[in-house]
Formats: sequence, structure tokens, C-alpha cells
Amino acid sequence: MGAYLQSIEQLKPLLAEQRNATNLHGDVSIEIRKQRIQAVIDLLVEEHEALARAMDADFGGRHPGFSLMNDVLGSLTSLKHARDNLAHWLPNQARQVFAPYDQLGGEAWVQFHPKGSVGIIGTWNAPLFTLLSPLAGAFAAGNRAVLKPSEITPRTAEVLAKAIDARFDSLELAVICGGVEVGQAFASQPFDHLVFTGSTAVGRDIMRRAAENLVPVTLELGGKSPVIISRSADIPEAARRLAIAKGTNGGQICISPDIVYVPVELREPFLSAFCATYSALYPSVEGNADLVSVINPQHYSRVQSCIDQAEEQGAEVLRCPDVSMPASGRRAPLSIVLNPPRLSRIMQEEIFGPALVVLTYQEVAHVVSEINLGQRPLALYYFGTDAVEQDWVLAHTLSGGVTINDALMHAAMEDAPFGGVGASGMGHYHGREGFVEFSHARTVFKAPAYDPRAEWGMLAPYHAEFSEAMKAQICR
Ligand code: NAD
Repeated sequence: MGAYLQSIEQLKPLLAEQRNATNLHGDVSIEIRKQRIQAVIDLLVEEHEALARAMDADFGGRHPGFSLMNDVLGSLTSLKHARDNLAHWLPNQARQVFAPYDQLGGEAWVQFHPKGSVGIIGTWNAPLFTLLSPLAGAFAAGNRAVLKPSEITPRTAEVLAKAIDARFDSLELAVICGGVEVGQAFASQPFDHLVFTGSTAVGRDIMRRAAENLVPVTLELGGKSPVIISRSADIPEAARRLAIAKGTNGGQICISPDIVYVPVELREPFLSAFCATYSALYPSVEGNADLVSVINPQHYSRVQSCIDQAEEQGAEVLRCPDVSMPASGRRAPLSIVLNPPRLSRIMQEEIFGPALVVLTYQEVAHVVSEINLGQRPLALYYFGTDAVEQDWVLAHTLSGGVTINDALMHAAMEDAPFGGVGASGMGHYHGREGFVEFSHARTVFKAPAYDPRAEWGMLAPYHAEFSEAMKAQICR
């Protein structure tokens, strides 16, 4: 069977074949794991130009240099980190044996086994990274895999699928393309692990389907990532870094800053520094190749209608750069929505596009209470130099990850877990945690030759001394 599956009907037999191969070949050597990872690295090195062109076409405007940084180099970093650190992750871990078996020669260790076949469903906003970064962990753990790219970036999916077909046996890695129906059928298969990156709403459905087969899931979801600007922050620098982060991928990033909380008296200096940076990065909108387009008309009108609704409900909206909305195309200036009503859509839904909410506050404690009233965010950002306040904010909030004095950066940490919590997801990939996520940590106990239980009166028929001996051990 080719590695580029042409219909969902091919998936079930392929999974059965992958399961047979897993059973037949047993554990997967470090050499084979590295070969598989290396084949993906080679694919990216050889196909990066075609992939960047496809992403540019799929977005209707995404700078190839940005695609190389975000998707190609982002994936390569995960793959190389896994390849180069696998030797440290893989060895069995000796564990402390319980007394008195430790004295009698008992041994115990944890070994990290491949789970089997991992299904990986990706998004359009990072159409390679959301497939290949988890694949690094899945391959490092010795698994086989099947990818399901987003149908919203079909050209990228096609280039990737053909490139995989040319390099992989479907027993190791396969791809199936398609939309919601394919995604639903995919999530209903008896994988040994399923990774889903996407929206929280679809994540719920994925988990329900996976539950039918008791398939463990890693859910990399979205949400509204808040930013707290402390009174102790360097306001122009915080605004500059946030503007850079918000412009990244046209705001279409799962950890994009969504709501910024600014001290009430610092709002104007913050806004003016933010707009100055954003407008310097993107001085024009229409035809500006540096500005990533909104992916499609549906998402464009979704974001615009959230902004329009907030404006109709009385919120002030600033545009950066200060130009009118283009008549055509899907590039838009950034809309900064000031103090929208709490129940407006822009305050309730993940923005995931060229808009940002700015709210003012008096007390950081109120900001933290408001954040804690909502769903657990994927990312939280704190800008400031007040170490006591910083620690207090960290201690009183929970989010997938945190960057202090910048935004997005923690996701670039290959040597640390990336993932959400609560409504922003569960499980991790990246680094050793990704390897562990896709492995089965199997405890092995090797019994000593001598079994003391009969001699110590621990076996039935139980005598009074046995109960007394048990009681004697119950202590604090
Ligand atoms: P989406 O949930 O609409 O789709 C994601 C994938 O699921 C696509 O491959 C799609 O074909 C498939 N799909 C859609 N509906 C399905 C269904 N009912 N059953 C099975 N599969 C289905 O998400 P999207 O629009 O592609 O991506 C945007 C969302 O992803 C945002 O919420 C964003 O925050 C999130 N995201 C999260 C991360 C992360 O690492 N946490 C990264 C990127 C994007």
C-alpha cells in the first residue's frame, strides 16, 4: 500500500498491518528510530521550497521566509532535538525495589516501549509544524504514524503527502488528506495514541470518538491567551515585543496574545508604542507580502464580525497601521478593540486573527480573578520587573505555558514540554516529555530466586501471628 492513502477505507487495513508489523518486529532499535526521524529531516531539507510555495498559495499570502522559520525550521528543530537526545531518553530506568526483596536480589526497571500506531491530526495555521513536531516525539518513541493534514491548506497537504509517499513505507508513516468527515473517521480508528491539534470544540468531539476505542489522546487546543502588563514593566519595550508577537502569522497562532491588561494610567503610552512598532513592521496592508493573510473568507468575516459587534456595542477600535479596510484580499490592519463589553463575542471567543483586545485595570489581583473566571488559557504573558508580583501571578494562575517579558517564546523551548491545561488541552509534546507521552512506561519486576513468604508465615492458611505482624507494621 502506498503511503499516500487515497480513501479512508484504506486506513483500517493499514492500521491492522502496522499492528502486525509492531508485533512481528518487537521493540524498535535506536537506529531505526533515528532513521525514521532522519527521513523526515531529509524530506524537509529537500522539499522546503515547494512546501513554502504551497503555504504561500494556501494562505493567499504568507511570506516564504516566514513559512521556512515557522513550519520548516520549527519542525526541523523538534526532529533534530529528538534525533540527538534519543540516546539519553531511551535507556531503561532502574527503580528502587521494595523491602525486603531489595535485599534478596529483586530487580526493577521502567522501560519505554513504543505504543504502536500514532494518529496525528494537524491544523492549517501551522500546517507542517502541527504534524511534524509531534511526529518527532512519536518516532523517537518508536511508533509508526499516520498523519491527517488540514483540508484548509490543501496544496501544502498534497506536497507533504507526495513527499512522504516517495520516501516512506506505509507501515512506518502514511498520510490521508480530507476534511471534517475524514477527520471524524480518522479519530474513530483504534490507534494506540491520537494527537489532535485544533479548536477546543472539535477537541471535545475527538476525545469522545477516541474514548470509544479507549485511545489515549494528546489534545493541543486553543483559547484566549491573556497578557498582564505590570506597573513595573518597561512599557515601550513590552508594547514593542507584543506588537511583534501579535503580527506573527497574522495573529493566527494558538498562543497569540488575545487580551492585554494594562494599568489604566499607562494605556496611552502603551497604545502609542504598540502602534508605532506594529506600523513600522507593517507600514501598509494591501499587497504587503510581509503581512500574513487571513486564511480564508470564512475566517476573515468571523474576525471582522467580532470586531464589528464590539464596535456596535460601544467599544473604541484603533487600526494599525491607520489605514481603511482594504476592499479586496484578506490582509487586514490590526484592530485594537478597547474595553469591549464582557459578553461581546470578541471577549468570549478565541480571536485567532488580526485583532487584539486591550482592557485597563487598577489592581493586578482583579485581573487574575478575571482570568481565573475563564477557561484555563494555553499561554499567559507577564511583563514586569516586580519579582514578588510576578511570582504571585504565577502562583495564582494556571496556563499551558508562560513567557515572562515577551510572548510566544516558551513554545520554542524544545527541551521543555508544550501543551495546554483544562480547555486548552492535555498532554505534551517537545523534548523528553514528548518521548514519554508517546511511549508506554512499562514497569518490569524481576523476582529473586528465593521466595520468603512461606517461611515468614505470609501465606494461607493465615495464622494469628500473620495478622499481628500486619498490624505491627501499620504506623505513621
Ligand atoms: P479545527 O479544530 O477546525 O481543525 C483541526 C483539524 O481537525 C483539521 O485537520 C480538521 O480537518 C479536523 N477536523 C475538523 N472538524 C473535525 C471533526 N468534527 N472531527 C474530526 N476532525 C475534525 O482547527 P483549525 O481551524 O484547523 O485550527 C485552529 C485552532 O487550532 C485554534 O483554536 C488554535 O488555537 C488551535 N491550535 C492549537 C495549537 C496548539 O498547539 N495548542 C496549535 C495550532 C492551532
